[in-house]
Amino acid sequence: MPRIAYVNGRYVPHRDAAIHIEDRGYQFADGVYEVCEVARGNLMDMTRHLDRLDRSLRELRIGWPMHRSALVMVMREVVTRNGVTNGLVYVQVTRGVASRDFVFPDKTVPAVVVTAKKVDPALAARRAETGIKVITLPESRWDRVDIKSVGLLPNVLAKQAAKEAGAQEAWFVDAEGNVKEGGSSNAWIITKDGCLVTRPAEHGILRGITRTTLFEVAAKLGLKIEERGFSVDEAKAAREAFISSATTIAMPVVEVDGSPIANGHPGSVVQSLRQAFFDVAEKTPA
Ligand code: PMP
Repeated sequence: MPRIAYVNGRYVPHRDAAIHIEDRGYQFADGVYEVCEVARGNLMDMTRHLDRLDRSLRELRIGWPMHRSALVMVMREVVTRNGVTNGLVYVQVTRGVASRDFVFPDKTVPAVVVTAKKVDPALAARRAETGIKVITLPESRWDRVDIKSVGLLPNVLAKQAAKEAGAQEAWFVDAEGNVKEGGSSNAWIITKDGCLVTRPAEHGILRGITRTTLFEVAAKLGLKIEERGFSVDEAKAAREAFISSATTIAMPVVEVDGSPIANGHPGSVVQSLRQAFFDVAEKTPA
């Protein structure tokens, strides 16, 4: 089955999918995106992803490229045309095409791309059984990481550094030594008395959709959550640690900067969060 992308009003084979050289997303990273999980034929938490897309667009004063309900149809269509039952759907909106100039052009039509990709759920399941390793790095990103912009170069460098260190994620650490979030995920720990801890999302991190839904999962499981910063040392001494994102759900972290978390194996709380997630999250059939 050939891969199909949606590009500015047309469904096209991947090899023919192209955007203009003066697209402001290409030249200035002047655009935003969303990644939505597809699980068992459902788009997961789509309402929240589109709400966050709306917020990102408003923060950058980029218009919607089409009506929201039309974008939902395109997302479902791209998932279906690519035969994706498990995987992800990617939506990117940029300010559009204009002669290169820093200031906003007078008139542009927002450009939109939607793609979908299959991901074998067995891979993530296997990874969740062993857990992942993370490294920590000083924060190097701009102040507005609450906007899901396509300007991701610091994240690229951080995740490459993690890979070269034999780890799967990098945690950005602020000047006070507190963990902010990962290169493409939010960061969590579970304290010795079983309390979930994650940094408040008002400032300095992306408000992850999976993070928000995990608050509901935790409530259902009767788990306590504290929204506060935690240091790298507190993470190393935690009972459990994990990351969250649409593509990893809740993924155990078993090592931080070479120090094992607890006995170096995934804990039971993160596994139960992971298991309960599908039932709690919103499901939109593709
Ligand atoms: N933080 C960053 C920097 C991310 O890139 C992501 C992944 N989109 C997340 C957190 C997790 O967000 P979500 O749960 O919405 O995927």
